[in-house]
Formats: sequence, C-alpha cells, structure tokens
Amino acid sequence: MSDASLRERAAKVVPGGMYGHLNAAIFAPGYPQFFVRGEGCRQWDADGREYVDLMCSWGPIILGHRHPVVEAAAAAQRAEGDCLNGPGPVMVELAELMVDTIPSADWVMFSKNGTDATTQALMVARAATGRAKVLVAHGAYHGSDPWCTPGPAGTTPSDRADLVEFAYNDLASAEAAAAQAGPDVAAIIVTPFKHDSFEDQAPADPAFARGLRALADRLGAALVIDDVRAGFRLDLRGSWESLGVRPDLTAWSKAMANGYAIAAVTGTDALRGPAQTLYSTGSFWFSAVPMAAAKATIETLRDVDGVALMERAGTRLREGLAAQAAAHGFTVAQTGPVQIPWLSFAGDATLEKAMYWSEACLAEGVYLHPWHNWFLSAAHTDADIDRALLGTDTAFARLRAKFGGD
Ligand code: PMP
Repeated sequence: MSDASLRERAAKVVPGGMYGHLNAAIFAPGYPQFFVRGEGCRQWDADGREYVDLMCSWGPIILGHRHPVVEAAAAAQRAEGDCLNGPGPVMVELAELMVDTIPSADWVMFSKNGTDATTQALMVARAATGRAKVLVAHGAYHGSDPWCTPGPAGTTPSDRADLVEFAYNDLASAEAAAAQAGPDVAAIIVTPFKHDSFEDQAPADPAFARGLRALADRLGAALVIDDVRAGFRLDLRGSWESLGVRPDLTAWSKAMANGYAIAAVTGTDALRGPAQTLYSTGSFWFSAVPMAAAKATIETLRDVDGVALMERAGTRLREGLAAQAAAHGFTVAQTGPVQIPWLSFAGDATLEKAMYWSEACLAEGVYLHPWHNWFLSAAHTDADIDRALLGTDTAFARLRAKFGGD
C-alpha cells in the first residue's frame, strides 16, 4: 500500500488525514506520512524507501528501533500479561531504578504521554500549595492539553488564565512574571534548554537556572523541569543536575522506554504527601510491558553509557555538517546539544532553504526536519553518521545549485 493511497484513504476516515505533530503536511511537501518499519537507526516508509533516521520518532527511540534487550524485556512481560487489574511488580522495580538514578527523585508517578506528566506535575504543585498560577516561558512547548497546546482551537481563555509568561534565559522577566502573579504562584515550569520550534536552540544560562531555583524557593512554589524532550539524552540523572540545580518535580516521557508508551513525574519527599492526594489515573497508565521496556532502556543506557555514544555521534554529525556547509558556501547555525541538534540557514526567515535542503536530504535517504530539532540515538555508529553525511552533502550541492551560496 503506497503512501499516496494510504493518504487518500486516511483523508476519508481521519480528520485531515492526519493531525498533530506527526502530520507530514506541515513539514515540507515530499515528506512521507506513513512508515512501515524501523531497525537500529533506520526507518522505512510505506513506499519502501530507507532512511538514516535523524528524528528517532521525535525522541522516543534512544537505543535504536527494536533494540534486542528492550524487546526481550517487553516480550517476556507481554508473555505474562500487560494490562492487568493492577500494576505488576515491575512498577516497583522501575520506580526504584528511577529513584536510584535521579538525585531529585524520591518517588515516581507513572502515566503515558509527556502531556500527562507536565499536567500531573502542575497538579501536584497546586495540591501542595493550594495556589493556581504557573510561570511558563513564552513559546515553550509543554504538550497538547488545553492549558498548553500551542493552537487555540478547542480551548477557552480560562484554560490558560492561570499562566503568566516570562522569557527564557531572562531572569528579570521571570521576576516580573512572579510580581504580576502575586502571592498565587504554585509552580515555575521550564525546559532544560530552549528548544522551541522554528528557532535556533539555546542552552540554559546557569545563572538563569539557579535564579529560577531561588525564585521558586522565595515564592514557596515548585520548580518543575519539563525533561520530556531532553530527558535521558543529556544526563540520566536529570538535565540540570550538571548545573547543580535540582527541581522539586520533573516530567519525563519520550525516551524513557525506547518507544514504548510511558511517562512519569518524579518529585521530592516534601511533595510526596500532596502527590498522594491527587486523583490522576488512566486505563493504560499501569500497563506492565512499557514499564519492563523502560527498566531495560534505562539500565541499558546506564550500562553502555548511552549519553556518551549519542554525544560521539552528534559531534561527528555537527562537525561534518559544518564542513559541508562551509564548502558549499552557506552560513548555518547548529544549535542545541549535539545529540538533540538543529541546523538553520542564515537569513532564511521564510525557511525556504531549510525546506529545500531537508527535502533534498530525504531524497538522499536522510530523514531530518526543517523546523523542529532532531534526535540522535545510541545506535548511530560512525558509519551511519558518515552515510547520513553523504546524503547531506549532495543536498547542500543541490541547494547551492538552486540558491547559490548565502
Ligand atoms: N514537553 C516537551 C518539552 C515536549 O517536547 C513534549 C513533546 N514534544 C511534551 C511535553 C508533550 O509530550 P507528549 O507529546 O508525549 O504528550
């Protein structure tokens, strides 16, 4: 079944044929919508085309598609049962592993998607403080519930009425947001680095991170790190641990089970009591297979030093792309941690070059994204990166032929 015929059928039975962040129609023309297989760091679309996968399913795939250790753990659990009348022993084992691995975690609550975790973290903060307001960075993505979805359709102004915005890396603006919110601040929620779509990424200024910690303490509010996108790729202990900034609550999902559906909130002892008071649950939140997969994923990342493997692959990719861009006469910005990279072209506000180049990469068997950051996995070997660079080089040459240099 071809991509085109699947789209035609989907258009009749799925709103818009596809919706949300995986809707290929909003990337660039030419992007395939349907995929049939993944293995290691490769994916195959419905038309049978093979790609070096530089998106990793938008983050979840961190050890490579169908990683044998994770698949074996999932299969062993599946043979016993997945969705039972209560969680399996594996829930306790996984929670223990996370508490042992993440210094800011004294307890864990599980759910399914990143949005579940960010929303649940704010519920814990509100239950703890009895307050309503949340300070949030302008343009940051925290999920698709009505309080945080970037699109207004289907939401009401009251859904967002308790949010007060600040600018990322601008402590003065966070102080101003706190002043505007008054005594009613339950939480400050922040991503570990600035990874808004359509923009160059930016690391957190350590003084900003420390300042938010101090501000939350002064307000008696919870500092929530949304580690859904970066979690387990930068530092298994949590993405701000290396800055010496520990959150009260952290939201996790995406990479924690190498593609299986699971999310979590971790929190400190001080918030254990309030967390216990929440009614927050779901039919599939306690399924055992994703928990077994998560345990195997985190253990494997620890055992193989997955972060170092991703850094190695990302550095090779970044250096290769920098050399190619320069050789073909383009000024580019490569931003974000090397394992969650993005490339933008100077003076390309309309994304014309980014769209053309990423489509040319696709044609050369390299799947990356024109306006959203990419993700690398521990399965990307030097040879895989070199294969990707072969494709990107041809794509730069085609871009040069079309646009000239800068
Ligand atoms: N927070 C961040 C930082 C994210 O990147 C995402 C997903 N892109 C979410 C929350 C929401 O996660 P999910 O799509 O799994 O609900």
